[in-house]
Amino acid sequence: MKLKKRWLIPALLVLLMGLLSVPEIMHENSGTSISHGSVRNGKLENGWLVPFRGNNFQYFSRFSYYILNCGYVNDRVYRTITQAYQTCEATCPGQTFRLMECTRRKGGRMLLHWTHQNGTSVDFMVPKKRGQKSNVLSSHFGLFHYLLQFNSAGRLTISPGHKTEIDFETMARHILAVDDAARANGLRIRKLLFNTHLLDKLYATQAGKEILRRDIFIPGRLNDFVNRFHDDHYHVDFERIDHER
Ligand SMILES: [Zn+2]
Repeated sequence: MKLKKRWLIPALLVLLMGLLSVPEIMHENSGTSISHGSVRNGKLENGWLVPFRGNNFQYFSRFSYYILNCGYVNDRVYRTITQAYQTCEATCPGQTFRLMECTRRKGGRMLLHWTHQNGTSVDFMVPKKRGQKSNVLSSHFGLFHYLLQFNSAGRLTISPGHKTEIDFETMARHILAVDDAARANGLRIRKLLFNTHLLDKLYATQAGKEILRRDIFIPGRLNDFVNRFHDDHYHVDFERIDHER
């Protein structure tokens, strides 16, 4: 009897998590999405669910994807994200990218974010390396990844002398692929947010120079709070080229 009681709460939790995952397990992407309102005050109709895993990418957290339901986007954004990763199979061979939070199934307010409300905002985890290795432990931290801090050299400050650093060249190549794919789908990058103390390192790369040439809008000034939270990931807002949504 005691044994049964001990397992009751874990069993109920597993059941609850299973029930909360049903929308994602059953979801099928079809038709056109409608993004209502703005990224700060909006809704998403018929959102598309990003794949949990692809050839060279994966969503960063099962909890965020299945329980918080934060892996939905506008169908044009879905095509943009997946096509960009396809391009990166050629431009960044051997690299596994991680996609972070998108939008909830029907949009609206989300924990941790002021925006992300209508399916046109996406967070991308910074690609990292440790020597020649690109698969580093800190990429597996799930939602805690949002709390990681990097110094102005792009090095993870988790412990003194830690060797994991941002792979700026790969990041810049991914941004170019996202920009290309957005245009192919009638979108453009409205705004890309990334820690302003790290921008010089990004622009110094070969692909980073092309980002500058294309004039992709990346604010050079952000308030301290926004800056602090945009070193482990870069945030992209998309907009329709014809300004419709
Ligand atoms: Zn974001």
